[in-house]
Amino acid sequence: MAHVAFIGLGRMGHGMAGRYLENGFTVAVWNRSRAKADDLIGRGARWANSPADAARDADAVVTMVADDRASREVWTGKDGVATTARPDTLAIECSTVSYRHALDLAHDLRARGLVYLDCPVTGLPEAAASGKLTLLVGAEAADLERARPYLTPISNSIRHFGPVGAGTVFKLINNLMGAVQIAGLAEGLRIAEQAGLDMAMVQDALASGAVASPQVVRHSKRMVARDFSGASFTAALRHKDASYALALANGLQLDLAVGRATLDVYAAAKAHAPDDDEGRLIDVVGRSKPV
Ligand code: NAP
Repeated sequence: MAHVAFIGLGRMGHGMAGRYLENGFTVAVWNRSRAKADDLIGRGARWANSPADAARDADAVVTMVADDRASREVWTGKDGVATTARPDTLAIECSTVSYRHALDLAHDLRARGLVYLDCPVTGLPEAAASGKLTLLVGAEAADLERARPYLTPISNSIRHFGPVGAGTVFKLINNLMGAVQIAGLAEGLRIAEQAGLDMAMVQDALASGAVASPQVVRHSKRMVARDFSGASFTAALRHKDASYALALANGLQLDLAVGRATLDVYAAAKAHAPDDDEGRLIDVVGRSKPV
């Protein structure tokens, strides 16, 4: 049976690792804090003492960690995957990382004989746990075909954008646009509240009007109710994604005024409550002096 090493068992990674177990793979898991692996071990996963230990027998290594720094540590750090993985092992990076990092990591891992796929995802933790993520792949076509048996257990849609890095470009565009929508929603709702509108009616009208994107519909309910329980995506992670998107834009000689303003709002939200649901950014909008 094919061996998968799964690294990073946070909100997303925990469910994704479970999908490999449910689909009959032999799975080794590692997470910086071990407790998150307990039930996966109970379901048959092998606990590995390091990313290197997890990768030892792996045919494919899949990672789902927070950011560039975490990705660098688990792949090419002292006890990283690259120290033990066999040549030809599939290296599937699902974390949202910067474009520069995706290219550098691909270069480093290829130099060690690994086959790198850029594979960020869209979908919430529920989709991760039920194998319904959309995968945004950047890879050589032949590498994607080889990796497909390791991608289908976690996804119901695989979009191949082009060579390594192309999946990350789309992911960063997607998440910057999501940030803009959520920040715009928060500002609109603050105006509505201050103006004394009936907020149940506002929410209902938003949900059936022309700006009713899935982000707006989902976050308007939570923001109006100020109910941010069960965080699925945090202010810190969205700020990270928006900052990576702006770095990509800068590298393409694009100066994005709306993107910069949105990043500022998310910086305030991150300072306010980094690990809370990103919808709490409504707490920080509209605080500056009126113009
Ligand atoms: P999360 O719950 O905060 O999990 C983050 C994971 O990264 C944890 O396993 C954490 O380990 C690990 N980590 C952080 N810093 C590390 C380091 N220096 N070394 C090793 N491991 C480290 O986040 P998440 O929501 O699962 O997101 C994971 C990735 O998926 C992020 O890149 C995010 O942008 C992306 N994503 C998230 C969503 C979503 O809806 N949540 C959707 C699509 C994509 P500990 O458990 O020890 O802290």
